[in-house]
Amino acid sequence: MSPEHNVHVPLSVDEYNKLTQLISTILFTEHPPVIIPAEAILGIEAVAAGIAAPGRTIVNIVTGPYGSLFGKWLERGGTTVIEVKVPFDEVVTGDQVASAIKEFSPCALSFVQAEVVTGGSNPAKEIFKIAKEFNLITVTDSVSAVGGEALLVDEWGVDFAVIGAQKALAGPNGVSAVSISPRGWEFLESNKNAPRNSILSLLDLRPSLDGTAPLRVAPNIPTLEARALILALTRIEEEGLEQIIQRHERAAAATLAGIESLGLEPWQKDSRHYSTLTTTVRIAGKQDLQIEKPIGIVAPGDGELFGHLLRINHFGTNAARKSVEEAISTLAELLKQVPDQALQAVRLAWGE
Ligand SMILES: *Cc1c(COP(=O)(O)O)cnc(C)c1O
Repeated sequence: MSPEHNVHVPLSVDEYNKLTQLISTILFTEHPPVIIPAEAILGIEAVAAGIAAPGRTIVNIVTGPYGSLFGKWLERGGTTVIEVKVPFDEVVTGDQVASAIKEFSPCALSFVQAEVVTGGSNPAKEIFKIAKEFNLITVTDSVSAVGGEALLVDEWGVDFAVIGAQKALAGPNGVSAVSISPRGWEFLESNKNAPRNSILSLLDLRPSLDGTAPLRVAPNIPTLEARALILALTRIEEEGLEQIIQRHERAAAATLAGIESLGLEPWQKDSRHYSTLTTTVRIAGKQDLQIEKPIGIVAPGDGELFGHLLRINHFGTNAARKSVEEAISTLAELLKQVPDQALQAVRLAWGE
C-alpha cells in the first residue's frame, strides 16, 4: 500500500488481527488483548473504573506517582483501597505485600511493574506468586516494563496488564493495550459498576470469542497510530524481545558504571531493583546537578522528585551505547570533570 493510501484507508480486519497477535506474543499470553484507542494512561484508568466497586477491597502498591493516581481512581469508584506505599527511592518487598494481604483480605492487588520516574523496578514475579497463593486478581501497569524486563502474562497469572509502546518498545504513544485474562473478564463482568458505553469501558471493547463484533471496534482506533504500532512491533519481532531486554540491561549497567566513575550514586537504594529503562542519580546537595530542563536524555526529576534526582532516560532507541556516552559526558560537563575515565567505564560495562 502506498503511503498516501495508508493515510486514508481504515484499519483492515487483517491489520487489526495482526496488531492483536503481535501484542499477545510479546506478553506471552494466548488471550487477545483489548486495543486501547489512546495513550496507555487511558487503559490504566479504564482498568481502575472497570474493577472499582463499593464492597471491594484492593491492595494498591505505591512506589511512584502512577501508583498514587491508580489508587485515587479506585477510590473514586467506591473501592476500599489499602495503600502500601514505600519511599520513592525504594521498591516494595514481598514481605510488605504479603503482610498487607494477610491483614486486609483484599480481592485484588495492583502495582506498577517498573518506574521510569524513580528508576526502581518492583519484584514482579515474586508479587504475582504471592498474589496467586491468596487467589487475588492481579493488575500491573507495565507500560515502562515491557521491553525492558520479562512479563510472562499467562505463566505468572497476570489478570490485567496495561502496556504502551512509547517507552522500551520505541513505538507510538497513541494506541496502547490491556491484556485481560478470562478471570479478569469475569471480575469486570461481575461488577455492576463497570462502565458501559463509555471511553472507559473495557467491556465494550471485549474481543469476542464467537466472532461477533464488540460494541465499539476499529472505528475509534487511530488508524495511523495503529499502523505505526504494527511497524514498531514488527521491528521488535525482528530484533527479538530477548535482545531488546538485554540491550536495556546493558544500557543500565553501562550508565551505572559511568555515574559511579564520576563519583555519583544512584538514587534508588537497592541495586537488585534498578529499572532497566532509566537510571536515577542522587543530587544530594550537588548544586552543579540542579538542571531545570532536559539535556539530551538527562532530565530533571518529575514533580515532587525535582531537585532530588536526575533521570537518565536510556530506553527505546536510546538504549544504545552512544546515548549513554552522551549522557555521561553531559553529567561530566555539569560537574566540570574530564569525562574520559567515566566513558571508559561505560565502554567496559557495555562490553563491546
Ligand atoms: C509512561 C508511563 C505511563 C503512561 O504514559 P502515557 O504516555 O501517559 O500513556 C504509565 N505508567 C508508567 C509506569 C509509565 O512509565
